[in-house]
Amino acid sequence: MSSRSLGLSPSLYDYLYGWQNEPSTLAALREETARMPGASMQISPEQGRFMGWLVALIGARRCLEIGVFTGYSSISVALALPDDGRLVACDVSEEWTAIARRYWERAGVAHKIELRLGPALDTLAALLAAGQAQSFDFAFIDADKEAYREYYERCLELLRPGGIIAVDNALWDGRVADPREDAPSTRAIRALNAFVAQDPRVDASLIPVGDGLLLARKR
Ligand code: SAM
Ligand code: CA
Repeated sequence: MSSRSLGLSPSLYDYLYGWQNEPSTLAALREETARMPGASMQISPEQGRFMGWLVALIGARRCLEIGVFTGYSSISVALALPDDGRLVACDVSEEWTAIARRYWERAGVAHKIELRLGPALDTLAALLAAGQAQSFDFAFIDADKEAYREYYERCLELLRPGGIIAVDNALWDGRVADPREDAPSTRAIRALNAFVAQDPRVDASLIPVGDGLLLARKR
């Protein structure tokens, strides 16, 4: 995993980071998370900014997130939503999402975020059972990699035509391109990358922001 975009020199990265004027709440969250084990799971600031821009670009009002951790990506998305917009945020960890909740308050976005604690596949199944197919504009997938394909399928059902799925860690710190790497997580990411490239239900792009972001727009 990488919490900054891959392959940039330190000085170029500093320039990129300096350009974007990260909101102070997000900078504080990054500092607090950096002291925790697992800090590298957090998305990079430039990726957060890009995802917020994308959410605003498509005029998203209803979003999904699978994998909250301490809340950086959820805040990046929620800041870009209108005041009555909603983000359904899925995670299994009370401990990590307690930190996220604190920063949702600080960032003034808590009223836009609905936390669903429990296995995300159960939450997605419940949303579908509640008749919410085709009602979401944007979904960010960033939880257990072995379940990526199932998350992708359920999110595609939940998305309206023209909605976007963003799948994180698509380049997996370079491991997707290393034939010696054969861990289940690496195989799952490679398999989804290959599947989405030829999936006739979407138009896709794989971009090297952060640790690689696979974007699929539902036709
Ligand atoms: N998007 C986050 C950010 O910007 O900081 C990082 C998410 S982190 C890579 C992955 C998260 O997925 C963890 O918080 C973990 O608790 C959660 N997770 C793992 N398995 C899960 C599951 N089956 N259902 C829901 N969440 C899960
Ligand atoms: Ca990630």
